[in-house]
Amino acid sequence: MKHLYCDICKKEVVDPITDRTYFHIREYDLCETCKDDLDYAVKYSVRDKKPFDFLWFDKLRVELIQDGLKKNRIPVARPANR
Ligand SMILES: [Zn+2]
Repeated sequence: MKHLYCDICKKEVVDPITDRTYFHIREYDLCETCKDDLDYAVKYSVRDKKPFDFLWFDKLRVELIQDGLKKNRIPVARPANR
């Protein structure tokens, strides 16, 4: 059986199913929880950016992942007024 570890939280992904329980983005493997955090972080950053451009979208995603590698979690910037 193949063992797969999330690159962000370093936890083992049990029974990895591509795009369901783990996600491969560029050269990184993300578990479902970290992928959710990444989507959330990207969503809040994207709000202020117009027009949409896949180049910065991709760059932003990779930057968040690389930040997450160091912190063992995706830094989710929630709005301050909540
Ligand atoms: Zn993870």
